[in-house]
Amino acid sequence: MLRRTVLSAPLILLARRAPAQQPPSVIASFSILADMTRQVGGDRITLRAIVGPDQDAHGFQPKPSDAAALTNAALVIRNGLGFEGWLDRMIRSSGYKGALVTATDGIVPRMMEAHHHHHGHDHGGAGRRHNHSVGPRRVPDPHAWQDLGLAQRYLHNITAGLIAADPGNEAHYRRNAEAYAARLMALDQWVRAEVAKVPAARRKIVTSHDAFGYFGEAYGIRFLAPQGVSTEAEPSAAEVGRLIRQIKAENITALFMENMSNPATLQRIAQETGLRVRGRLFADALSSEAGPAPTYEAMFRHNIALMVLTMREDTA
Ligand code: ZN
Repeated sequence: MLRRTVLSAPLILLARRAPAQQPPSVIASFSILADMTRQVGGDRITLRAIVGPDQDAHGFQPKPSDAAALTNAALVIRNGLGFEGWLDRMIRSSGYKGALVTATDGIVPRMMEAHHHHHGHDHGGAGRRHNHSVGPRRVPDPHAWQDLGLAQRYLHNITAGLIAADPGNEAHYRRNAEAYAARLMALDQWVRAEVAKVPAARRKIVTSHDAFGYFGEAYGIRFLAPQGVSTEAEPSAAEVGRLIRQIKAENITALFMENMSNPATLQRIAQETGLRVRGRLFADALSSEAGPAPTYEAMFRHNIALMVLTMREDTA
């Protein structure tokens, strides 16, 4: 042990003496993308997330300091699929000329009704414009990161972006990406094994907004939500009423809040159904370092542990 330390010390010194090159400044649109990027980039990049932990990226309002950081960046990484319209506007107005990676490139998105999946004719005066003549507008569901299989595509795109921005560290990025891909694959298997512990008829969950469509499709859980794929439009009273009737009819008891959504509607649903909110799922944002979901991997472990525990308890 002692000998190995002595032998490797000169090598470390040599490595540190390599010409000091400024690490590329990388900007990720929101906390989940930032963590994926950190897992690949490690200490070779300077990383900034525009939408931080526990913050809602839907309809985010960037600050002047965000635009300033953009100007000096070598690489911007966004989710795409319409998730960060504010970022696209910011890129246009700032005159940013660096590279842009869309993490969902190559993913065939799920399509959703723009407003809502419990779509009716009552739009509740929420102030949103609808084109009634052509029926509900369909938009891509942006929440593809909630499927660990699709995360491999994110990883591929992020890694390619880092290598293009900083070819000198290609081996480092590839090594990290390979190790991360293996961890995500193992996590995917664990998720499937955990969900298998819940009787199929009990695999139903109510959350604040439609963030778990990909998750539900990948892992066989049905998700219901009063709010659509974006948190920007409030659900109408009629839509909430329909969801409450459905919860009662299907005897759904797994009700969760999200870390970044307004809890008011969900609390109302809890009140009117007599159900208890069973905890907090991490949907579109990680927690802070001190919280239960500071990384993408920790987010899955937290969400699955909570979901499976609740759905299994309900069978008793
Ligand atoms: Zn969302």
